[in-house]
Amino acid sequence: MTVASTRDGPPRRLLVAVGGNAIHPAGIKGTAEEQVAYTGAAGRALRPLLELDNELIITHGNGPGVGKVLMRQALARDRVAPMSLDICVANSQGGIAYLLMQAFENALRAVGNPRHVVCLLTQVEVDPADAAFRNPTKPVGYFYGETEARALSLELGWTMRQDAGRGWRLVVPSPEPKHIVDISLIDAVAKRGTVVIAGGGGGIPVVRQPNGVRHGVEAVIDKDLTSAHMANVLGIEDMMILTGVSRIAVNYGTSRQEELDRLTVSEARRYLKEGHFLAGSMGPKVEAAIRFLRGGGKRAIIAHLDEALPALNGTTGTRILPDAH
Ligand code: ADP
Ligand code: MG
Repeated sequence: MTVASTRDGPPRRLLVAVGGNAIHPAGIKGTAEEQVAYTGAAGRALRPLLELDNELIITHGNGPGVGKVLMRQALARDRVAPMSLDICVANSQGGIAYLLMQAFENALRAVGNPRHVVCLLTQVEVDPADAAFRNPTKPVGYFYGETEARALSLELGWTMRQDAGRGWRLVVPSPEPKHIVDISLIDAVAKRGTVVIAGGGGGIPVVRQPNGVRHGVEAVIDKDLTSAHMANVLGIEDMMILTGVSRIAVNYGTSRQEELDRLTVSEARRYLKEGHFLAGSMGPKVEAAIRFLRGGGKRAIIAHLDEALPALNGTTGTRILPDAH
């Protein structure tokens, strides 16, 4: 199938989603120095995009970060009162956004560029009737042995599930993002030329009552779905999802693995249905790209964090484009 257009080159407005694992890889201990080093590297990798004179909105994941917050509270629960999950998400969203903001500004200042970067703590409304609340499926944080898993379940009310024989993990509801609170402010700040970091970790999950009062809920929203929603509401036509691999592949992890340069939204949907993209990692990215293109997006790029500019220029990465009319 042919595609509508290649749309290579820098767009006027761009949303870039930075992967949580890409800035906090599984193998690291996660010391403060490591966190600064990895976000610093992300800042240098994204510098060519930060230097473009366009409207730039950055979202980011928080999987490893919120996992560590939860581990800390599990270990310290006799001494320090545990926080609810919305507060844990807010903690990790703020912590990661702070490091990214500093890293982006440092990367810009190193080349004499005075562009500002701000981070906006972002609440995202979900539907309290979302089926996800009755069926928590998203594993977060660490693996625990059965005894500790049972203790945590009793003491903290955590829902623990066995994860493919590897141990027990906390599973939480992952409802759909319905509304990004104060999205008009994200838009206004981006329009004035400031780089905006928002929607980290999928956003702080909240429910809004009919009278306008909001309260946090125990959930973790998928950051790729929040990114697609944000881009659609803001009318952004170009979205990049940056992660730890250069391209998406079919038959991933097998001898028949084949990396893809370019595919249409229909092809992406078919491969997704056929199970080529793993749930909880590449699956939500492709799902987010499909939703983004169906909601008015023109080009979704999935690429390695270190290859942001070449991916934007079309020399690497996987681009997903609308079907040709
Ligand atoms: P992030 O923190 O960026 O969201 P994830 O680990 O959640 O990163 O998702 C990216 C990972 O998905 C890749 O590093 C790769 O290990 C995995 N993956 C699963 N299926 C595929 C696939 N079909 N093609 C490429 N990578 C895949
Ligand atoms: Mg992920």
